[in-house]
Amino acid sequence: MTAFPEGTVLGYPRIGRKRELKKAVEAFWGGRIDEAELESTAAGLRAATRERLAVQGLGRADSAIPESFSYYDQVLDAAVTVGAIPARFEDLRSADGTIGLPAYFTIARGEGERAPLEMTKWFDTNYHYLVPEIGPDTVFSLSSDRILRQVQEAAQAGFRTRPVIVGPVTFLALAKAADEAPEGFDPLSRLDDLVPVYAELLTALKAAGAEWVQIDEPALVSESLPASVAELGAAAARAYAVLGGLAERPAIFVAAPYAALDANLAVLAAAPIEAIGLDLVRGTVPAAVAGLADKVLVGGVIDGHNIWRGDLAAAFDTLEALRGLGAAGVAASTSTSLQHVPHDVEDETKLDARLLAWLAFADQKVAQVTTLARGLAEGRDAIAGELDAASAALADRLSAPGVRVDAVRDRTAALTGADFDRGDYDARVAAQESALALPALPLTTIGSFPQTGDIRRARAQFIRGEITADEYDGFLREEIGRVVALQEELGLDVLVHGEPERNDMVQYFAENLDGFDVTENGWVQSYGSRATRPSILWGDVSRPAPITVAWSQYAQSLTAKPMKGMLTGPVTILAWSFVRDDQPLAETANQVALALRDEIADLEEAGIAVIQVDEPALRELLPLKKADQPAYLDWSVASFRLSTAGAATATQVHTHLCYSEFGVVIDAIRALDADVTSIEAARSRMEVVTDIAASGFDHGIGPGVYDIHSPRVPQTTEIEALLRRAVEEIPTRQLWVNPDCGLKTRGYEETNASLRNIVEATRRVREDI
Ligand code: GLN
Ligand code: ZN
Repeated sequence: MTAFPEGTVLGYPRIGRKRELKKAVEAFWGGRIDEAELESTAAGLRAATRERLAVQGLGRADSAIPESFSYYDQVLDAAVTVGAIPARFEDLRSADGTIGLPAYFTIARGEGERAPLEMTKWFDTNYHYLVPEIGPDTVFSLSSDRILRQVQEAAQAGFRTRPVIVGPVTFLALAKAADEAPEGFDPLSRLDDLVPVYAELLTALKAAGAEWVQIDEPALVSESLPASVAELGAAAARAYAVLGGLAERPAIFVAAPYAALDANLAVLAAAPIEAIGLDLVRGTVPAAVAGLADKVLVGGVIDGHNIWRGDLAAAFDTLEALRGLGAAGVAASTSTSLQHVPHDVEDETKLDARLLAWLAFADQKVAQVTTLARGLAEGRDAIAGELDAASAALADRLSAPGVRVDAVRDRTAALTGADFDRGDYDARVAAQESALALPALPLTTIGSFPQTGDIRRARAQFIRGEITADEYDGFLREEIGRVVALQEELGLDVLVHGEPERNDMVQYFAENLDGFDVTENGWVQSYGSRATRPSILWGDVSRPAPITVAWSQYAQSLTAKPMKGMLTGPVTILAWSFVRDDQPLAETANQVALALRDEIADLEEAGIAVIQVDEPALRELLPLKKADQPAYLDWSVASFRLSTAGAATATQVHTHLCYSEFGVVIDAIRALDADVTSIEAARSRMEVVTDIAASGFDHGIGPGVYDIHSPRVPQTTEIEALLRRAVEEIPTRQLWVNPDCGLKTRGYEETNASLRNIVEATRRVREDI
């Protein structure tokens, strides 16, 4: 067995420095390039990645470089590798039973009546994976040799890389029961049938030349999955007893990113595997457990979630502490895959040099890992220069202008309980009823209207300087005029301006608040071919000038109906940005909240009587560990309340959440104390109203009646049925009618038709109440 490398990373961005993979994959989907060309682009990206990682200091031949490429998603890769695809896609297999690239993409994206795999959040990140569907009859069989071919491709280029796969426990723990499975079926019950396929794969990887394999088992750290920590641990013990016992296999490195392993460390330590990866950014150095003496501990001390250069000396201290556990070896690594950070700081040409010196994207993090690895091998003195340079950058960051602004800090320090409290709800209802005079079942939308090609083109022209600010402004006003006229014509009750001026609901605010910067090339995969460019929140946040007021005021001037002001909430702004790590998130959230509070005051001043503060990411930041959840919910709810509590009694505050699995967050949603909350409900056929009714939720609620994720136009009778179900369970005075989410990804044709049907369905239901 060869030694584990002294330094490694758990994975590297796959999309390419210039999003080459996105472009190639989308060209393939569009029929503009063929499969061979796509494969060769992808091979080129993999080759460039290996070279890049070697240049940053990872070994070419010691399994330090992870083979972590994916065309779309690592969970889908695992599903296709073990052949666990839903019955509705079975006919897509090749004659020899393998699943090729076109089939892979069809499973990811669906085709006609064939629904794709569902997509959901990957642990506590903004990455979304495809949810495997497993039933009692799912047949597991090796159905793709893609990962083997990548190992061989690397060997031909002179590398010995380390293949990375999602582990069997995590794969099943994240799966949902297939449609045809009996009630209560648990995918994890299929573990013993799945493990032999992993065994076959490991043996094949060994034959292909892999000395080490990385098996990702993040499920082992989570307390937020249907299976308990103990059940997951028991499953891991069973699976790794088999895999570890194989005669022919690579050495096994089980990585457990995203939080502390806690009790499951003992399980992995007792298993016949060779290395264990610990997240020492989210977790701390654990106590020693039995079984470590023959294992390498891979210390994830470089943060894979954020883009800060961070405290390298502290990271090295952590690795030294890890050495105290008596393991056979200690290696330096990232806490998670680097798929959550952009490629390279060097690609940013417009950021301030001072800010740049504080940052580390994937390439810089690789270099940090190799520095730490050298320290482990040669002693601290050998890397003293690098540690000092990182400490100096950190010190510079703490003292730089804008990082700590007295005026902002004085304001948050002076906050009292009253600043978080809007006062009596009944009084608000009465004041709002007389101010707004809305009909029963008021009709509204979530905010955005279709972002047409024209809008994107105008924005691009404005950014490139091809049209003037005045021309762009005029274009947006015309667009707003059209959207307002359409809503009046349709007969909606609370209108929106449509958000044509926003590229992105967080970046738009980041661009207009102090304390933020935006990147040029800081793309991070969010799912499949989609990437986002999170803003960087580096300093104290304040609002130099009103942001949305002119647009809302203009839109209100076009109609006698109430125009809804539209803001993104503090938690969502934090969740979808890279946030400073030198103070508690709660403090940063309150700064953002105060900026929004000022915006709300200005909107009111401008005559806006209804204001929505979107918090679609409220549940996203929920910690994986139960013990951490109450504190998170406390500060996140508090920041929302701080942002809205300055609103007048007669101002109606709305919020919007993109999901309906209320579960753990129902109390938090109630505690937001928004006058009206809109949520997704159409996809689950309004099932959520039962939970809402049972929870005693007594504020306004708009369960969505239109699934905007699909181009499908819901029929009037269908919407009517959904509404009648809602009316049955929830008092009508609480109910609102709206789509599930914003309309920006839809076209006008289906938007018009759908909204028309919603209005007609509402008219019919109103007649009977
Ligand atoms: N107001 C936003 C919109 O309609 C909300 C988007 C979201 O919830 N993600 O686009
Ligand atoms: Zn939404």
